[in-house]
Amino acid sequence: AFNFSAGPAVLPVSVLQEVQDELLCLPGARTSLMEMSHREKEFIEILHDAENSLRSLMGISDDYAVLFLQGGAALQFSMIPANLLRGTDKTAAYIQTGTWGKKAIGEAKKEGKINVVYDAATSNFNHVPAAGDYQVADDAAYLYYCSNETIQGVQFQSEPECPSSVPLISDASSDFLCRPLDINKYGLLYACAQKNAGPAGVTAVIIRRDLLDRGSDQLPGYLNYKNHAENDSEWNTPPTFAIYVLGKVARWLTNDIGGLDAMEKINREKSQLLYSAIDESDGFYASHAKPDCRSTMNVTFNLPNDELLTAFIKGAAENDLVNLKGHRSVGGIRASIYNAMPREGVECLANFMKDFASKNG
Ligand code: PLP
Repeated sequence: AFNFSAGPAVLPVSVLQEVQDELLCLPGARTSLMEMSHREKEFIEILHDAENSLRSLMGISDDYAVLFLQGGAALQFSMIPANLLRGTDKTAAYIQTGTWGKKAIGEAKKEGKINVVYDAATSNFNHVPAAGDYQVADDAAYLYYCSNETIQGVQFQSEPECPSSVPLISDASSDFLCRPLDINKYGLLYACAQKNAGPAGVTAVIIRRDLLDRGSDQLPGYLNYKNHAENDSEWNTPPTFAIYVLGKVARWLTNDIGGLDAMEKINREKSQLLYSAIDESDGFYASHAKPDCRSTMNVTFNLPNDELLTAFIKGAAENDLVNLKGHRSVGGIRASIYNAMPREGVECLANFMKDFASKNG
């Protein structure tokens, strides 16, 4: 079946096959990777390889540390303000464009003063702000935003405006590695792996090294970024299997896809197939996100009524198009079409949409 799950989500078939081939015994080793100490030379090589593959794919210089952490993206909601806000007299600025930003704000409030500089809640999170819609103080602790709101399907087309004195922080969990970006614009960018980068269990955190000193030694050890940076993500046992797969996904992007520019082009074409099916349906399908911020990763739309929605989901599943039900807070359909979703799957869904609309419209 074509799996449109929002996450954990589809992985490249070739990566899954490699993992299967190597599962019982890692080539060159005498055990399975899952049975291997994280201090073992073979694993250290895998760890470095995953980091280096990400660095070359994304163009990350040594000014940044790349950390592989546990606790999911959700722990970053707390780790970021714990390191960069707690104990300061500064205020952190937050842009709220959906559910995940809202959750991050809830956690940040426990750590210090925050200012929600833009809130799209009143329009049911269907857009992102334009330049000039909000102000960030020059001395803010940081500016936080979520580049792609997975539930609502709204995506920033480029980084939000931010004073150069203020570190920009992005939750890129659901659009990590979907397009090239200039990491030098960021203080910190993070993503859980289970959408575009691997299985659940690891969160990649890319942090500018000068920010590592901001965490207090009084923080619980795991929460202090510096401990992870100084110990090569081995301050405690890292999620070895998830890191191993993440490294393979990064190499797949480089070798099989041709890098992030090529990936972006594919993602634009794939998502356009679905947005065209929506736009050409004479109002049968209603897009949740406004056209200028539609996500290339999570396509959200509704049908005229609940009966048709149920029939759509059932009919799609009968055609091997699964996990299309939208999140309960938005309703409707959400088609998550991450990097590893083949174009063929999106074409099948677009055809199904057209057929369903013509029969029921
Ligand atoms: N941020 C975004 C944008 C997400 O899509 C998700 C999960 O879907 C999260 C954060 C939370 O991730 P986790 O479950 O790994 O904590």
